[in-house]
Amino acid sequence: MPKTYNDIYFAVRSRLRDNGVEAFGLEARILLAAAAGKTTEQLMCDMYLYTSSEIEEKAMSMLERRLAGEPLAYIAGSWEFYGLPITVTPDVLIPRMDTEIMVAAAVEAVKQFGMKGRILDLCCGSGCIACAVASELPAARVVAADISSAALEVCRKNIKDNRLTSRIITMHADATTWPPMSIGSFDVILSNPPYIPSRELIELDCSVRDYEPLNALDGGEDGLDFYRAIIKYWTIALRPNGLIMFEVGEGQADDVKRMLLRAGYVSVDSRFDTLGIERVVIGKWKNEF
Ligand code: GLN
Repeated sequence: MPKTYNDIYFAVRSRLRDNGVEAFGLEARILLAAAAGKTTEQLMCDMYLYTSSEIEEKAMSMLERRLAGEPLAYIAGSWEFYGLPITVTPDVLIPRMDTEIMVAAAVEAVKQFGMKGRILDLCCGSGCIACAVASELPAARVVAADISSAALEVCRKNIKDNRLTSRIITMHADATTWPPMSIGSFDVILSNPPYIPSRELIELDCSVRDYEPLNALDGGEDGLDFYRAIIKYWTIALRPNGLIMFEVGEGQADDVKRMLLRAGYVSVDSRFDTLGIERVVIGKWKNEF
């Protein structure tokens, strides 16, 4: 008896529910859409069509990976960020909703100051931040930089798939030392660097610890190594009145604000995420020369 997408959807959904997956309906939809090579919208339209045994087998093997604890984003290979589809592989972090706060703040600032905007996304990973700001700000020119060549490859795919090749270039760079001479200067530097204190890596949820790239999470002994280095080495790449924006971990905002003030930044401010955590720290570079 041939099965419809809906039959498989129900089978996947109930296995997820029985195994304690909270968002079982949503996850079943994303998983089945990925198995079928469709968007979730297409899947909804095709729900009562017959499917193939290949798609059923694929969905079931994806389901087993999910039940073994692998994050859905790596199984599906794609995750939504700021309304854009972002390819994810184990070489990059899965884009988090928290990070959308920084994108919103950057977009707002660029619009408010009437800047065209040359923007740097430092430690870009998948490039989700770079793609989101470039897609929101058609006049902006973005550089997406990372130390990981594997991440840059994923980033380039995301730039291409989101048709942003004319607005974003990628660059190999180490955030913990001086920028390459050729990099030029920026109106905005955005960074969601690794910020988990090394000894806390072991306490992370196993869906993060066992699957996500640890070099994208490990912020050194107190978790603040990258903020220190970026402020020290990358401030020279900011234009006068340029903005630096960091995503920070819970409880880190005050330390990062202090670092910015000590380095000569002004108008130091922050933004809260939906859980009320101070998540983004912003500073303005006031060039006195
Ligand atoms: N927010 C991520 C987490 O909770 C950490 C991201 C980072 O270190 N930049 O796992």
